[in-house]
Amino acid sequence: MPKNADEMLEFAAAHAKDLAAPGLSPRPQRKVAVLSCMDTRIDLFPMLGLERGDAHVIRNAGGLVTDDAIRSLSASQRLLGTEEIVVVMHEGCGLSGASEDDFRRQLAEDGVLPNWRLGAFSDLEATLHHSLDRLRTARELPHRENVRGFVFDPEDGSLREVDAPER
Ligand SMILES: [Zn+2]
Repeated sequence: MPKNADEMLEFAAAHAKDLAAPGLSPRPQRKVAVLSCMDTRIDLFPMLGLERGDAHVIRNAGGLVTDDAIRSLSASQRLLGTEEIVVVMHEGCGLSGASEDDFRRQLAEDGVLPNWRLGAFSDLEATLHHSLDRLRTARELPHRENVRGFVFDPEDGSLREVDAPER
C-alpha cells in the first residue's frame, strides 16, 4: 500500500511549529498570483523570490488558462486583492507534443467524454502568448493590465520572458 499520505501526516505533525503562521494575512502581500505548470521541477518560491504569504499559486497541467484557472484568478483578484498575474510555462512540458486524440481515446475507453481538453500543444511560445491574450481580455478579472509570461528551462535554470510588454 502506498505510504506517502501517512508519511506526510507524520511529517507535518513533527513540524507544526514551523508551519503555523499566526497572524499572517491570507491576502497575498505582494498582490500577485502565479499560474504555473504542475511540473515537479518548478520550485516557484525560490525561483521567483517568494515567501509564504506573498502570492497566490495556481497550478495545473501546462500552466494553461483554463476556465478553472480563471475562476481561481478571479477569486484572487476580487476577493483577496491581487492585481498582477505571472504565468510560468517551461521547456520539456509533458503536454508538449502529447496527443489530444490518444488521450481522448483513452478516456472514451474508460467510458467518459469530458467537456475539457487535455490542452496538448506543439508551440510553447505561441501557447503562452495565447494564454496572455486570454487573460488580458478576461472580464472576469478586474486587473488585466499587468499580465506577464515566463518560460523556465529546467536544464539550465533560466527563466525568460515571452511577449514582454513594451516600455
Ligand atoms: Zn509542464
